[in-house]
Amino acid sequence: SSFDEMGIKDDLLRGIYNYGFEKPSAIQQRAVLPIISGRDVIAQAQSGTGKTSMIALAVCQIVDTKSSEVQALILSPTRELAAQTEKVILAIGDYINVQAHACIGGKSVGEDIRKLEHGVHVVSGTPGRVCDMIKRRTLRTRAIKLLILDESDEMLSRGFKDQIYDVYRYLPPELQVVLISATLPNEILEMTSKFMTDPVRILV
Ligand code: AMP
Repeated sequence: SSFDEMGIKDDLLRGIYNYGFEKPSAIQQRAVLPIISGRDVIAQAQSGTGKTSMIALAVCQIVDTKSSEVQALILSPTRELAAQTEKVILAIGDYINVQAHACIGGKSVGEDIRKLEHGVHVVSGTPGRVCDMIKRRTLRTRAIKLLILDESDEMLSRGFKDQIYDVYRYLPPELQVVLISATLPNEILEMTSKFMTDPVRILV
């Protein structure tokens, strides 16, 4: 299987090859197509499997860069992961001119406000800061169509459960949800049944 067979837009394919990838990893082969076709997806996968690039690919394929509204939101357990995801999106999405921003604690709120007012397509952040930005109405949610919960078990062990549910409440009802987790304990299964419809399950 190759990236060419995935129905990915040409300018995004260029970005992927230019980034140095030749062939999709297992999780990319199995998750990208269902996500692109609009399905909810539960992917049981560890880091190192190519999941960050899988997220970047899916998000870049789905956003309409002619609009300047936030259309995809990625929640991660740590500032480092949220920043890394933003970086990979900007790199792979170079030729589609995607605007991404990392909303993470420890950086100035003023910078978030300036960036978001300027218009971004994708926000990658930690649940606390994202929740805060939504409540301040700095992060507008009405055009968000895709929510990705990365390292979900880790987010729960870091105590982000209430903030994830809080964020979810602000998102439009017609929402596509992708959940990635190394393990699937009961609290995660509760989230999947609350947030997702007929999800595709992938074990990498
Ligand atoms: P991740 O799990 O996304 O953090 O990826 C782990 C490492 O694998 C990173 O260094 C990626 O750049 C690399 N990687 C991800 N997908 C591919 C691919 N399709 N081909 C080659 N390297 C990849």
